Order: sequence, then structure tokens, then C-alpha cells
Amino acid sequence: MAISAEPKIPFFAYDVCVATYPIRTYGDPVLRQVTTDIENIDESVIRLVEDMIDTMHEAPGVGLAASQVGVQKRLFVYDIGDGPFAVLNARITESSGEWTYEEGCLSVPGLYWPITRPNHVLLEGIDLEGNPLTVEASELLGRVFQHEIDHLDGVLLLERLDPDQRKEAMKFLRSQTLDPEQQRAKRKLLGGG
Ligand code: ZN
Repeated sequence: MAISAEPKIPFFAYDVCVATYPIRTYGDPVLRQVTTDIENIDESVIRLVEDMIDTMHEAPGVGLAASQVGVQKRLFVYDIGDGPFAVLNARITESSGEWTYEEGCLSVPGLYWPITRPNHVLLEGIDLEGNPLTVEASELLGRVFQHEIDHLDGVLLLERLDPDQRKEAMKFLRSQTLDPEQQRAKRKLLGGG
């Protein structure tokens, strides 16, 4: 997940070898796929978590789901200033209240919408050592959890927009995803250069 304001948190300056993934963006079918639970926390999972954290910090974002880097595992990382943390096989088991927040997504870069979702959530999953994990969260952290779990279920924030917002967003995104030839033709049509 991305936040519209300049983050007020110090992102870690990594001076070790940083490996980052390209972040998959809107239109990539991998973002529509449902991820599967992780059965075995081996070296490859640990490495994936490290690289996802680097990718999230570099973006910068406050959360990143494995599907956003093309991996179909039920795993996300987050950092709203006191992390980073990783959660495996996460699900939201309770939610309540309502909160509207300007929400963005690293897979739909540069666009933000006020989106209303439950304010309080209970997240259950496991940590990197395989221990059960339960986190109660509200406001920004609760929002990050809901956003990342949507990704793990193949849902993009566009599906959380109201019909008017969605129509506008789709129109804009379609205009962005035209190939260069189509873009030239469109500019010509509009009298542009
Ligand atoms: Zn996102």
C-alpha cells in the first residue's frame, strides 16, 4: 500500500546488498490470482521476505504483498514506522467500525482515493518462525492489513471504489495503458502533438 503524504517516518538506509523486485502493476494478471498458504518456512521464504522489505522501502510504501512481486504465496510485509514485519498465511477474522482514508497502491502508482473500510481489524497469521500471530489494528495499520490481504485474495483497491470513482479510475487507467502507437493516434485525434 502507498500513502499520499510524504511519509514522516525514517526509511532505513540499507548499506548492505539490496535486492529489489520490480513491482507488478495494474493489468498484470498475477494481481488477480489468489495466493496459497505457505507450508514450509525455508530459506527461500526468508530470502523472499528480505527482498520484499527492500522493495517496499525503496518504493517507498507501507505494505507489500507477495503477489505484487509475482509470487503466489500468502505473505505480506509492512512498515508504518516501527517495523518492518512479515506476516504469513494472514487472514482478517474480525472487523468493525468505519474509517475513510486516502489510499493508494504501489501497483496502481500515483493514484489515491478516499476509501471507506472497517476501522478496527483482528489479523491472524504466523510469523517467520512459524509462531501463531494475532494483531489488533486500527486506522493506518488496520488499513494496511486490509489492503494487503485484498492483494493476497487477488483484489485490487479499484474494487473498493464507489461506482463513480471506479468509472473515472478505469477511464484514466485505460488511457495510461494504451501502447505508444495508440497514444500517438489519440493525441492526433485530440489535436495534440
Ligand atoms: Zn496495493
